[in-house]
Amino acid sequence: MDEPMLTVVEPATETTLAELPSAGPREIDAAVARARAALPAWRAVAPADRGRLLRRLADAVADHADELATLEARNAGKPLGDARGELAMVSETFAYYAAAPERALGDTIPVAGGAAMTFHEPLGVVGLITPWNFPLAIASWKLAPALAAGNTVVLKPAELTPLTALRLERIALDAGLPDGVLNVVAGPGATAGARLVEHPEVAKIGFTGSTATGRAVAAAAAATVKRVTLELGGKSPNVIFADADIAAAAAAAPAAMFGNAGQDCCARSRILVQRAAVDEFLAELAPHVEGLRVGDPLDPATEMGPLISSAHRAKVASYVPDDAPVAIRGSAPDGPGYWFAPTVLSPVAAGDRAVREEIFGPVAVVIPFADEDEAVRLANDTSYGLSGSIWTRDGARALRMARAIDSGVVSVNSNTSVRVSTPFGGFKQSGYGRELGPHALAHYSDVKAVYIRTEDSDG
Ligand code: NAD
Repeated sequence: MDEPMLTVVEPATETTLAELPSAGPREIDAAVARARAALPAWRAVAPADRGRLLRRLADAVADHADELATLEARNAGKPLGDARGELAMVSETFAYYAAAPERALGDTIPVAGGAAMTFHEPLGVVGLITPWNFPLAIASWKLAPALAAGNTVVLKPAELTPLTALRLERIALDAGLPDGVLNVVAGPGATAGARLVEHPEVAKIGFTGSTATGRAVAAAAAATVKRVTLELGGKSPNVIFADADIAAAAAAAPAAMFGNAGQDCCARSRILVQRAAVDEFLAELAPHVEGLRVGDPLDPATEMGPLISSAHRAKVASYVPDDAPVAIRGSAPDGPGYWFAPTVLSPVAAGDRAVREEIFGPVAVVIPFADEDEAVRLANDTSYGLSGSIWTRDGARALRMARAIDSGVVSVNSNTSVRVSTPFGGFKQSGYGRELGPHALAHYSDVKAVYIRTEDSDG
């Protein structure tokens, strides 16, 4: 029987970038066995030495940043400048968690008859499943805390974009990470991913992907009571009050809705604008959208690349039928490549599919609101809760809104969501658990309480 193959396509040219063996359950089982075999020695590495190895991995990623960024830009179809930024973050993420092994502090707890203390124990072999939109960045958000906490890892990258993760496995070995600590297995979700989730010797699944798949992962993981963290979809609001710097909000909005061609779980794809400012906002926004440079990811001037696949482009296009209320449309190249022009829809009705569903492409909607109460109601009128922005010059209002919006991340007069040192994750059906910052570590260890009896009668 022929070995099944994964054909990895370059979305900007529709040509084959690589062909590699497609892993299935057997390869997952072998990788879990390698990770299990490596676990005792990895747990026993002194904290300072584990930190040093993570630091070396951070440096090795930085040394290979150009190569990895180019590979990521070609495979995911993202502008090279964006890919470089993501690779810098990968290196920073390993460097940040390099400090963690020596800071895995426990508690001492006053009890009768003796002393109680806590330890943060590694979970064992953890399975990581990642999407195609920020392939290596999202992998690093999971890998770094997992390894810092003393676990060994099997990473299954998305089948559309496995190349940088496979390269990282080699770079990590060359940087001195012991054999079997970081294993990358490239194969389809339905077979390789599903096997990782059901595997009895995998202690935890760290998952990023769609809400539908996340639901299936959590259900399957329940059979073996695996720990699960889920980073899922979003439909995030960008709330712009009439008292804001409208020109600044309009200049910042395109990157927040069309960055990574809108294939960003944090995309601010619902722009809520206070009614008095809607016309001014749209007038300010139009030249930014129309002037967006969409094209070859490897051209340094490019601001937006293609979508990831033909099937995904068809899905995105279904949200912009011929009679769609297109208020602003940018440009896109002709010819090969999964191009889609950046598009702003207005006016829209509250029940429209484009308003309610995660499009995961360069399509955003503009929704007017009257006052703060209505802004909160509309912002929270979604099953998602990942991120959001508030633009206003009123500091007290900014803080009130930030507290009232049901999402894991909120930014004021900014559209940023993710930084290495702050927690990132969802409310509601955007998932549970947190990545990055100090909070991620708790999701890769279990707390153990140890009691030592020192008196004749104990507690
Ligand atoms: P997806 O759910 O289709 O796939 C994600 C990963 O899960 C892939 O590696 C895939 O192979 C694997 N998979 C698929 N079926 C599986 C199964 N039954 N068992 C185990 N693994 C399985 O998602 P995608 O299309 O790759 O990514 C897009 C989605 O990811 C969007 O909804 C987006 O919002 C979300 N996302 C969320 C975040 C976040 O941090 N919240 C970040 C990026 C992307």
